Order: sequence, then structure tokens, then C-alpha cells
Amino acid sequence: MMIASKSERRSVVIIGAGAAGLTAAIYAARAHLDPLVMRGPKPGGQLTTTTSVENYPGFVHGVLGPELMQYFEAQAARFGTELSYGSITEVDFSQYPFELRADNAHALIADAVIIATGATPRWLGLENERRLLGRGVSTCATCDGFFFQDQAVAVVGGGDAAMESALLLRRFASQVYVIHRRDRLRASKIMQKLALRQEKIRFIWNTQVKDVLGENEVEGILLEQIQTGETTVLPVKGMFVAIGHQPNTEIFRTWLEMDEEGYIFTHSDSTYTSVSGVFACGDAQDRIYRQAVTAAGSGCMAAIDAERWLQQEGESHE
Ligand code: NDP
Repeated sequence: MMIASKSERRSVVIIGAGAAGLTAAIYAARAHLDPLVMRGPKPGGQLTTTTSVENYPGFVHGVLGPELMQYFEAQAARFGTELSYGSITEVDFSQYPFELRADNAHALIADAVIIATGATPRWLGLENERRLLGRGVSTCATCDGFFFQDQAVAVVGGGDAAMESALLLRRFASQVYVIHRRDRLRASKIMQKLALRQEKIRFIWNTQVKDVLGENEVEGILLEQIQTGETTVLPVKGMFVAIGHQPNTEIFRTWLEMDEEGYIFTHSDSTYTSVSGVFACGDAQDRIYRQAVTAAGSGCMAAIDAERWLQQEGESHE
């Protein structure tokens, strides 16, 4: 990528404005690194699709996800962070300083880059799942559960997210089916216990969704029992897909080491990536914890790592 010499040069560019990116911004701004946050397609990150966050420390009675992210952003801005609405679409880490291009054709030169691009919910990969998205198919029970008052819905998955979705949906729906491909849940014991004891939640084990049925809205789902191959139609009005997440790291694939799923490798106990001067934090590099508080913690680490790196090594890269 060739960028004109007049490109804007920044000390630190933070890509992504979820819990990780905005925490990195707070720390970088307080270290007078004059950070620029490229907010990307989903400012606020995944917390903007939740309602009450009960496990973020400091909020005794919980806090709404979007509200919490507004606090993060306001705090980052208070210390002088510049927040841009653009998304980074292309990077070149082969030379120093690094080159980045935004979707508004804006070009940037960065002395250090902090990647905080988060993750996106995974899909089953069915054609009709995408076609009926927003018409019965959803990945966010918190956002869309309310629309399924007194209707039957299905949740696909066996992890904590699926249990959380099922527990939430039972408040609205007449019946909640959890479709899981195995006979054992991946969810934590406490979430399993909570979900399994609900009368309104019925578990359908060893089963996969083969198709989503309906012309203009979901009318049912086609299920296949994995051991017998037997297929049945389950009449539901909604299907909530809760089968994990995909890190938003595609544009870095050429440049950074990552695992087969796209989680960026960071050196142990730090946010250093395989390219010196590029740091990664939050769900883009964390496949294990994936919590708002751990994302925020790693955002803090990334800003401190970047600050120290710029101090010690940045100058020698000039
Ligand atoms: P997980 O990776 O934990 O679980 C994904 C589930 O989806 C698994 O049961 C998996 O099945 C199933 N699955 C994956 N791919 C497919 C597929 N193609 N077809 C059918 N089923 C599939 O993801 P989660 O999003 O549930 O959780 C992610 C992390 O976030 C975890 O660490 C979790 O603890 C945390 N979390 C915590 C919450 C809380 O504490 N309140 C709420 C939500 C998430 P299999 O088991 O067979 O692999």
C-alpha cells in the first residue's frame, strides 16, 4: 500500500471502540500519546447489544451495556482522545511507521497500532438463516426477545451464551427449545443448572439445524437427529443462534500470526503481537475469557505496552 507523504501521522492509532479499545484510549490519552480511535462499524462493541450488565465491577446494581460504553467513550474523550467514525479497511505492517487506510479513503501513518476489533457472532451457515435475519432469525436475544411474546422460539448452542439467551427468552416466549449438537452442555455449571430447571426451556440433544423454514418470516426449523439421521420440523417463530464468535481480524491476516480461527497471537503476559509496535487486546485475541472486564483489562495492558514500546524502541525504528 502506498500512501501519500501528506498522510496524517499519529503516535497511536486504536482500531475499535469496544471495552478494550476505549480503555486503551483512556490510558494512552492520559500518557499524552494523543490517540486516535477508529470506531469501526460497531462503536461500543458487543456490549451495545446487551441490556443489563450485572458483572462489571463497580456497578452494584448493574448497568445497561450501551450506557456503560457511553461512559467509556466520554472518559476517553475527557482525556483528549480523538474518536473517528471511520473504519480501517487496509493495513500495511511491512514497513515502519505503519500505514493504514480508512473506508473514507483517509490515510494514516501510525507509530504504534492497537488492535481492538473484537468479535462477531458466528452463523450456522444456512442460506435461509441469512435471508430470514431480522424476520425471526437473530443472534441477540437481549435485543430481539421482546418481539416473541407468547411464541415458541429455539436457541441453537450449548454454551453460556445459549443458556443466557434461553433464560432471557423464557420471560417472553411461550416455549423455548435449546437445540444442541451434543448430549452435554459446554456452559458453566451454574448456567446449566439455572436453565435445566426451567419448565419453559426444553432441551433437544444431539441435534442440528438443517434449514430455517418460512417465506417472509420464520415458520419453523428443520432438525436432524445426528445419530439416527431422522429429520423433524419444529414449529417456532424465532431462531436465536448462540454458537460462539468470530474474531474481526481478517484485514490483519497477511501481517500477523493468528490461530486457525483468527484469534491474534499475543506474547504471554503482554499484548505484543508478532509485529513489533502492533498490539492486540480484547476479543480479537482472547478466545478464553471474552468478558467486558477482561477486554478492558487487556486494553489497559495494550496502552501501557505501546507507551513503553514507543519510549524504548519506537525511536530506533525511525
Ligand atoms: P462457546 O464457544 O462457549 O459455545 C458455543 C456453543 O455453540 C457450543 O456449545 C458449541 O457446541 C456450539 N456450536 C459451535 N458451533 C456450532 C455449530 N456450527 N452448530 C451447532 N452448534 C455449534 O460460546 P459462547 O458464546 O456461549 O461463550 C463464549 C464465552 O463467553 C465463554 O467463555 C462463556 O463462558 C462466556 N459467556 C459468559 C456469559 C455469562 O457468564 N453470563 C454469557 C455468555 C458468554 P459444542 O459444545 O459441541 O462445541
